Amino acid sequence: LVLLVPAWGGNPTSRNTAAYFNPSIYLDHIKYLASDELGGRGTGSEGIDRAADYIAEQFKAIGCEPAGVDGTWFQPFEVKLGKKIAPDQARLEIEGMAAPWQVERDWIPFPFSVPESVEGPLAFAGYGIKAERYDYDDYADFDAEGKVLLILRYEPKDEDPQADFGGETPSRYAFFYQKARTAAKAGAKALLVVNPPNRAPEKDELYAFDLFGSQQTYDLPMVHITREVADAILKKAGMSDLRTVQQQLDEKRASMSRDLGLTIHLNPGIEPNRMPAKNVLGLIRGDGSTEETVVVGAHYDHLGIRPSWTQTSEPKDAIYNGADDNASGTAGVIELARAVKNGPPLRRNVLFITFSGEELGLLGSQHFVSEPTIPLTDIRAMINLDMIGRLSKTPLAIMGIDTATEFPDLVKTAAERAGIEYRGSGGRFGGSDHASFARHEVPVLFFFTGIHKQYHQPEDDWDLINAPGATQVLGLAHDLLVELADLESGPTFAESKEPASAEHGVKRPAIEEERQAAEGEGAPPPTDEQPSRRAMRVRLGIIPDMVGDDQPGMVVQTVLDGACAQAAGLKDGDRIMKIGDDTIRDIYAYMRVLQQFRPGDEVDIVVAREGKELTLKVKLEAAKRRPGDD
Ligand SMILES: [Zn+2]
Repeated sequence: LVLLVPAWGGNPTSRNTAAYFNPSIYLDHIKYLASDELGGRGTGSEGIDRAADYIAEQFKAIGCEPAGVDGTWFQPFEVKLGKKIAPDQARLEIEGMAAPWQVERDWIPFPFSVPESVEGPLAFAGYGIKAERYDYDDYADFDAEGKVLLILRYEPKDEDPQADFGGETPSRYAFFYQKARTAAKAGAKALLVVNPPNRAPEKDELYAFDLFGSQQTYDLPMVHITREVADAILKKAGMSDLRTVQQQLDEKRASMSRDLGLTIHLNPGIEPNRMPAKNVLGLIRGDGSTEETVVVGAHYDHLGIRPSWTQTSEPKDAIYNGADDNASGTAGVIELARAVKNGPPLRRNVLFITFSGEELGLLGSQHFVSEPTIPLTDIRAMINLDMIGRLSKTPLAIMGIDTATEFPDLVKTAAERAGIEYRGSGGRFGGSDHASFARHEVPVLFFFTGIHKQYHQPEDDWDLINAPGATQVLGLAHDLLVELADLESGPTFAESKEPASAEHGVKRPAIEEERQAAEGEGAPPPTDEQPSRRAMRVRLGIIPDMVGDDQPGMVVQTVLDGACAQAAGLKDGDRIMKIGDDTIRDIYAYMRVLQQFRPGDEVDIVVAREGKELTLKVKLEAAKRRPGDD
């Protein structure tokens, strides 16, 4: 391809390099990457591999060198995401009963089950609800300690619109995590859940185990059993059938919880799910005088195919095409590579990387910085493009300006040259791939045209992309890239002056909460007691490790300066095991539990540090919003 300057009427003496970029070539990349054919580029899917091949072909055609591992364009890594069913491990057996109950036919583990085996006495515990304010308590006069509980799904009088709780809209007591928490606090070991006979009596569907839902773990092993299995158990224990038991419960609303005199062996049959992923890397060498490198990056993964609750409470599979997020930045990286290749040689090397696994928690960029393909010390700066396709009246956001002492002036001058209005801010911790580099003291600049209605929705499509606007952004990014690649030294990394908000960048739970709300089957309850992300009133002042691992607890990646966590003595690397009397299994539990507190509340936090457990007293501070937090 020839240099596009004349064709696009750019004035070669000005530095407005937007003229190097052709909006229709740019948009063609997005049309392909965000097409249904690629299935939303979910990490681990077939569609994202086709996106990776496309990017590599583009890099090759432009004349980049392959800069992945072993002379390839790719840097593969493994993503541990959620769980999957392990049928060979699954076991549900009751002593004295010879029923050959099969996983995925007669019972199924819930995706949010704890993946541990249990055995013990079996008991019936009604709906497994303890709702003191409604005078309903399945745990009254009943000791659940050490037992596996058979419970009904939903709540009593569920289909009665007049019910004081339940009714047509399930209350928070119907949520699985609430039932798990109540049971765990009562000392129960596991839950068997059955669909109540009055709910959809003609069909008895087992809960769908899916990867998406398996990313969080509640307090107990818990499985869903068919009514047939439940009836067989009740019969063996000498109880009435499930329908009769439910009728009695709903009428009397008094605890019918009792031991069943049976012993159960339960292995929910769940194992960690592992998926292959890869970053795509292309290099354009500088003039050969140095190995110093500037990185230009964008994530090319998106959310894939998922259930969508956008329009209705009935989830439908939808393709999340992610045209703006982040085919727009991926196309930008490709076209920046072309512009650099077509321009005069720069002093430093430029490494172009498109990352996978960003939507799952910056996994691709974290992998790159932990196993860099070039020495990290050679990387002088990183430019990140994440959602640059919606330039509108709101000025372009450029974040990370506080990460190098030279950036405020450099960016201001370049933006003036380009005639682009921008709002600059810090935001080194922001939820995209530049954060992985900033953590290693690499100065970063992050370009972003702003959040919109279609953000993380199936409607984020190519026809809403402002391609001429994006080429304006690319013009500015290119100007800054050239500037950075030609510097003799620097830019100089600057420590952060502003404290980051602890929860900033945690985006998975927001989507998970949507799902949680739908979990009780139906719309979320119209009560402010239902935890929601917006209701977060306090912060601890940490950056959690967003990747997580198989172990219980949530690892603190960074304790923020001046935050209440620091005052309480929390340290980087601590594993938070408990907050108050709630066990913290993962980041989702952490979010749910924090939502219960108000600023000024004091709470004991148990952390594991170097093999020992410590209890620290934290006075929680108010969560505050910062620029860029949207
Ligand atoms: Zn993104």
